Amino acid sequence: MTHDAGFETLAIHAGQEPDPTTGAVVPPIYQVSTYAQDGVGGLRNGYEYSRSGNPTRTALQECLAALEDPAGAAAGTTRGMAFASGLAAEDTLLRTVLEPGAHVVIPDDAYGGTFRLFAKVLERWGVEHTPARLTDVDAVAAAVQPGRTRVVWVETPTNPLLRVADIAALADVAHAAGALLVVDNTFASPYLQQPLLLGADVVVHSTTKYLGGHSDVVGGALVAADPELAERLAYHQNAMGAVAGPFDAWLTLRGVKTLAVRMDRHCANARAVVDVLRDHPKVVEVFYPGLEGNDGHHVAVKQMRDFGGMVSFRVAGGEPAALEVCNRTKVFTLGESLGGVESLIEHPGRMTHASVAGSPLEVPADLVRLSVGIETVEDLVADVVQALG
Ligand SMILES: *Cc1c(COP(=O)(O)O)cnc(C)c1O
Repeated sequence: MTHDAGFETLAIHAGQEPDPTTGAVVPPIYQVSTYAQDGVGGLRNGYEYSRSGNPTRTALQECLAALEDPAGAAAGTTRGMAFASGLAAEDTLLRTVLEPGAHVVIPDDAYGGTFRLFAKVLERWGVEHTPARLTDVDAVAAAVQPGRTRVVWVETPTNPLLRVADIAALADVAHAAGALLVVDNTFASPYLQQPLLLGADVVVHSTTKYLGGHSDVVGGALVAADPELAERLAYHQNAMGAVAGPFDAWLTLRGVKTLAVRMDRHCANARAVVDVLRDHPKVVEVFYPGLEGNDGHHVAVKQMRDFGGMVSFRVAGGEPAALEVCNRTKVFTLGESLGGVESLIEHPGRMTHASVAGSPLEVPADLVRLSVGIETVEDLVADVVQALG
């Protein structure tokens, strides 16, 4: 596959030549742990043991690298790695590039599980974190400790307030201090934004969300552009062992093929839902990167292809009213997670972000978050309107 192929072509074909044995047009699920050798050390096609390498996982890894950085993947410098979950990918990355005494800057509305990894796990290993408002480049620059900060961790759009951070500007801040810029690209997916092309060093994914897209698999990924860093990460992927299994890799790859068409519909449906929320008397405030008043809207315009499928809003009447809206929807299913074809609704304060209560990352109690799916748009709009009462 040439790197100047379009996004959709890469999503369907990158890393996925017809199977050399049978011509199968989709990579088979190589449900296998070990591989016969032709004499001691005589590996066929480089495979020896499935923690170290598995052909189904390789297909997914090559495809993800091509989607994040087509030219780098074609040149073999950018590399993808697939993990058992997004947090497994994050843990492997952080324990590869950090050492005791290191410092990291994290978003002040980071994904709850990422915050918990820093606060409850890595802190015990002597890694310190400082939360900063990522849409304020000066605040990030002030939080960075030159010589000690190893990572500036970026999520954009952020969760659950959907602020948009300037990846290129933050890459400059991180690099000036000798730190890596890591971007969790889960909310946008590579279809809407490609952080490596904006100066990021590593992209993190929970492939559980838009990349998998069907709420049927948990997985994670890292994509790194620098060959030396990618090599260290790949070494630790094998040394720490939190790899994606063959069936999970296959399901994720199947989801990735339709990423572009799904994202287009997620974005269009989200826009329609935002339009009714904006004018609704029971809605205090709407958060969506496509709204002019949203924190970072001007950055979203230049950095993203479209504004995504995530929307959050504050309900008049405080937490009880917000909980009531969550309990009343019929098409939107009450549940955690996001990025699947089906629409989901949740209350961040009590659900996804319960672990940040009492911390600087605490979210408003009257906040409701939507993952707008790809059902019939009129059904989604009508459901939100009836739930608001
Ligand atoms: C879900 C999520 C994660 C964690 O991924 P898992 O696959 O659940 O381990 C990390 N970052 C973001 C933004 C997420 O939404």
